[in-house]
Amino acid sequence: MNNPRVFSNPCAICRVREATKLCDYVTGYNNSPIFVNNYKKFVELNSGCRHETCDLPMCGECAKQMGLNVDFCPHHYKLHIQAELPAKLKQAQIRQKSKQYYEMEE
Ligand SMILES: [Zn+2]
Ligand SMILES: [Zn+2]
Repeated sequence: MNNPRVFSNPCAICRVREATKLCDYVTGYNNSPIFVNNYKKFVELNSGCRHETCDLPMCGECAKQMGLNVDFCPHHYKLHIQAELPAKLKQAQIRQKSKQYYEMEE
C-alpha cells in the first residue's frame, strides 16, 4: 500500500495496484491529417492507427485482455459485449466480410 509507484500511477479501477496497461477501446475516429512542417514527422504522425483510445490506466488484474496488446477497461468491455450485432445482422456482416476477402485475393 505504501509503494510510491502505486501512489503516482494508480490503477483507475481498484486504486490499489500500479497501472501497467491502458484501455485500447476506440473512443473517437479521426482521419483528418495532422499538419507539421517536417515531412518525416508528418508521415510518422499520419501513418498507422490514429484512432483516439480511452487510455484509462489499469493494473493487469483489472484490465480485460482482448488479444495481443489489446486491453479494455471494465466499462468498455461491457460496451464491447453490447456492441455485438444481433444474429440477423451478423449474417449480412459475415457475407460482406467474405466478399471483401475474395476481392483482396484477386
Ligand atoms: Zn486494478
Ligand atoms: Zn476504456
